[in-house]
Amino acid sequence: MSNAITEITFACGHQEDRDLSAKPAGDRRSYASWLAKQKCTECWKRTSKREVSAEIKAEREAEMAAAEEDQEQSNLPILQGSPKQASWALQTRFNMLRGLYADFVEGGSMSEAEFDGEVLDLVRKIDRAKWWIDNREADNHELLEMLKDPGEAAFGTSNENPF
Ligand SMILES: [Zn+2]
Repeated sequence: MSNAITEITFACGHQEDRDLSAKPAGDRRSYASWLAKQKCTECWKRTSKREVSAEIKAEREAEMAAAEEDQEQSNLPILQGSPKQASWALQTRFNMLRGLYADFVEGGSMSEAEFDGEVLDLVRKIDRAKWWIDNREADNHELLEMLKDPGEAAFGTSNENPF
């Protein structure tokens, strides 16, 4: 039985026995008082998990705001679908267009004006959230092909009006 096992009362109020034998005997007291100012293992895990998910949430919100801003600036249609589909598709469209832009405009094969005329003009016609979700795996060249020939599922009227 090691006398290095010390009961610590943590800042959160929980108690835990900690084995301080890894620390030199002369350091244990100061280490123990440092520990007492921390949270216990369980509380520490809980907060860090919460902090991580808050971070992810903030990141997602920032991405959504960027996608919405781009939608407005590029004069793109608000996508139709369930709220979940609409926000997923908004994000997907934003990411895919960013990919296209990086590939073609930043890559030098298209000017800004060509991108606007040849790509965004086609994108402006597509108002179905599901179309973007269904096609989210397409690479840049596939996407360009699809935009030129998007099929009926790309348009809001296709589901509501069979004629
Ligand atoms: Zn605790």
